[in-house]
Amino acid sequence: MVAATLIAASVPWLTRSRRGPAVRLTLENCTGCELCMEDCPYQAIYMRKRTDGMPYPLEAVIVPKRCASCGICMGSCDYNALDLPDMTEADVKARIRALSKELKEEGEGPGVLVFACAKGARLDGFTGPDGRLKGREWAGVVSLPCIGMLQPSMLSIPFEKSIGLDGVFVSSCRQGDCQYRKGDEWFTGRLHGYRPPLVRKSIDRSRIRTVYLSSAEEGEFFKLLDEFRSSLADRRE
Ligand code: SF4
Ligand code: SF4
Repeated sequence: MVAATLIAASVPWLTRSRRGPAVRLTLENCTGCELCMEDCPYQAIYMRKRTDGMPYPLEAVIVPKRCASCGICMGSCDYNALDLPDMTEADVKARIRALSKELKEEGEGPGVLVFACAKGARLDGFTGPDGRLKGREWAGVVSLPCIGMLQPSMLSIPFEKSIGLDGVFVSSCRQGDCQYRKGDEWFTGRLHGYRPPLVRKSIDRSRIRTVYLSSAEEGEFFKLLDEFRSSLADRRE
């Protein structure tokens, strides 16, 4: 009975999902703006008096054992001060830029970059090694652990003058159902201009479509993506 009790008690520890490594701070880039602290759903960031002599009153401090590796604070930080070790801001931006350029240069008809929450509509089986959607090579996917990681400056890249992609499709998890508590809410606030950092007003909103879908709704994902692309094609005519 004792052995059975011990085994039963250990099940949650043996079966719990492994977290990725905690987010890291590059202190010299931190301006102490406090946005990451306000947005972190796990109180894994706090502010303290500046320690490095930079001309800002505060600096952010990460508490690694509280960090869920969701990347939401990377979406909050406009100063390139936060990185997930296995998914840095520089790597994500380079991927967005490269894929957007390929879609623009190689595609016939409108190209679409998809930002996909890993907990929303499941696209793993539908995405090739080059990041394109199989059978819809006009669309490329950048997958993020949480849509709250989608920093406004990332969303702007496909629309830069040197790229000029037709559209961006954001696939979030269902509203109010975020595995990391707040990612869908914070992203929606940034897009609609009531939660900083804000998506630039100058970006034509008809070129951005946001959908909120569960992991079982990939059929709906493809239907809405096709409709979005048709609307972009109509604009070209
Ligand atoms: S959002 Fe960036 S700049 Fe602002 S406090 Fe956090 S790490 Fe520093
Ligand atoms: S990665 Fe997520 S849990 Fe970790 S500090 Fe950033 S917002 Fe908080």
